[in-house]
Amino acid sequence: MMIRTAARSLMAIFASLMLIVCSSRTTYSRPNHLAEAPISGDEWPLHGRTSNEERYSPLHQISSTNVSALGVAWYRQFDTDRGQEATPIMVDGKIYVSTAWSKVFSFDARTGQLLWSFDPKVPGQVNVKACCDVVNRGVAVADGRVFVATLDGRLIALNAKSGKLLWSVSTVDRSKPYTSTGAPRVVKGKVVIGNSGAEFGVRGYVTAFDASTGKLAWRFYTVPGDPAKGPDHAASDDKLADMAKTWYGKGWIENGGGGTVWDSIVYDAEFNQLYIGVGNGGPYDYKLRSEGKGDNLFLSSIVALDPDTGKYRWHYQETPGEAWDYTATQNMILATLTFEGKPRKVLMQAPKNGLFYVIDRATGDLISADPYTNAELTWFQGLNGATGRPDVNPAAYYSEKPSMVSPGPTGVHSWHPMAFSPATDLVYVPVQESGALNFTATKDFKMKPGDWNTGTDFRAVVLPDDPAVVSSIAKSLTGALVAWDPVQRKVRWVVHQPYQRNGGVLATGGNLVFQGTADGRFVAYSADQGQALWEYKVGNGIVAAPISYAVDGEQYVAIMAGFGGSAITTGFQFPQKQRLPGRLLVFKLGGTVTPEAYVLSNRPPLQVTETPAGAGTIRRGQDAYQLHCMTCHGIGVLGGTLPDLRRSPAIVDKAAFDAIVLGGALSQNGMVSFRRRFSREDEEALRQFLQSKAREDRN
Ligand code: CA
Repeated sequence: MMIRTAARSLMAIFASLMLIVCSSRTTYSRPNHLAEAPISGDEWPLHGRTSNEERYSPLHQISSTNVSALGVAWYRQFDTDRGQEATPIMVDGKIYVSTAWSKVFSFDARTGQLLWSFDPKVPGQVNVKACCDVVNRGVAVADGRVFVATLDGRLIALNAKSGKLLWSVSTVDRSKPYTSTGAPRVVKGKVVIGNSGAEFGVRGYVTAFDASTGKLAWRFYTVPGDPAKGPDHAASDDKLADMAKTWYGKGWIENGGGGTVWDSIVYDAEFNQLYIGVGNGGPYDYKLRSEGKGDNLFLSSIVALDPDTGKYRWHYQETPGEAWDYTATQNMILATLTFEGKPRKVLMQAPKNGLFYVIDRATGDLISADPYTNAELTWFQGLNGATGRPDVNPAAYYSEKPSMVSPGPTGVHSWHPMAFSPATDLVYVPVQESGALNFTATKDFKMKPGDWNTGTDFRAVVLPDDPAVVSSIAKSLTGALVAWDPVQRKVRWVVHQPYQRNGGVLATGGNLVFQGTADGRFVAYSADQGQALWEYKVGNGIVAAPISYAVDGEQYVAIMAGFGGSAITTGFQFPQKQRLPGRLLVFKLGGTVTPEAYVLSNRPPLQVTETPAGAGTIRRGQDAYQLHCMTCHGIGVLGGTLPDLRRSPAIVDKAAFDAIVLGGALSQNGMVSFRRRFSREDEEALRQFLQSKAREDRN
């Protein structure tokens, strides 16, 4: 691969996008919440605060005029330094939050006192089935119960007061490489959860379980199953034939087809509808998956379901014939926007493919889909005006010859949640001003159970040898916070950031937008203008989204800090170069707590020996690394958020290396035995390759 900057005429695009600070306001009609119990503005009871998931707190005690007085009220440190992606829940004066490894904690929201914790004891070995770290994006709380989906695919209900286990069910086939990282949603007495694993070879679905008993209520498969096996006896059966018509050949059957619903699930109380965001295809390669034909429903689609039965209502496909990891799993926000004087109930999403979609919730019709950043969208050739269907550029497919495609699999916007403020009518999107990826199809692909099975050749994913070039690539992969006006279809303001993978966003009634950054800052901007008003140095990268709540008349802002997630692959972009324990930080006006400084360790030295192996051995070791190690230990052996193997003492100690790589000595940490994948010769070649990279770096 070459990661390449999207260098196309940045200035020209930004001249048209930037700082169009419009003074006129569109009218915002508040959604009708009559169907629901009223939600107190003091609380953050649901994943996106309300079921519309705006990620907007109406609280305004902390405002653009006094935010400079914000300080730490309390903080808690966790027992893991892996990525922290959870949005905390705050109800009834208590915080409920999950951490990496699917552990759950409850704190007093005012004092930070630990009330209880729960460890589902996820086996470390599950790590190897997770594409993007051992993260968890949050719990759901309803009717005195706390629900968490664990990395190994369990759905667990806990007593909210005591943290004691109420019930636990498996939501997946454990013989398949499923994982679960998303926050469950509770809808009308049912807990709804999806799963992950489309990179490895699974078939996506969502399941609803009875909240009081854990009994399965319904399941909806997002892609058809093996036709030879007949229907699934699931809610999706009625749609199987329609789905199957959009798939060709058999490439997808053994691999599962993908389409996992690993993040966004939103309940629409106004239409009694449940929206699920469906992920990418498996394998990625369109020809391999579906003979290069067909839409492949419901990949990369938003699907509306009946929440009571799980039956299909409508869908909109954002990337027909998806082949680039363009998930439609990104967070969805429901709102009522006014277009030319007429209110419309809409769903908004900014998926990986780089367009901002506004969809009519009543019909599933597209209202608008616009590029909103300076990232090139090489897959996109415009919209079919009559159907709202995006036209895909045939040159973006890579089954026959490699194709440089932008955005790459990182996406212009990934799971890091965007927020919508009804006070400004703007959506605040954390953006990756993404590089492109040179997609290369795997020759003679064979499904290998338990491995990455994307049909794209990881051996092609290499960085240039010149460290200066690598450094310039890293510098080009920047982020931005974009304030998008979904009615005027314009960028109102944009803040450029030096790194990708910055945190999710919170908007508040105090004319504020809060966001953490990859380089460890927690920042407040004015919501209307994008002026940076306050910044706090956390000392640990942030990918999660903040919340705000009030207790005893005092407003707080809370955020999970801890870098990780999909950044495990691209350590060369990792600003802090080492993992640090996750923390929940809670701020208030006049807060005076100074958190203990993080203890930074010296980087271990490069492990260098003086007897290079032959070129053939090193090449073999490189292939082994690219195919089996890179997705965790980083492109170019530069480390991800996981260890930089050039600095592991084991690479100069053959016995120690063998004990880890084939012996599985560190499997509890997630580093399983690769006995099934490597021969002893492969293992030794890998060790020699890693030494060669250490030597290269020293030189
Ligand atoms: Ca994916």
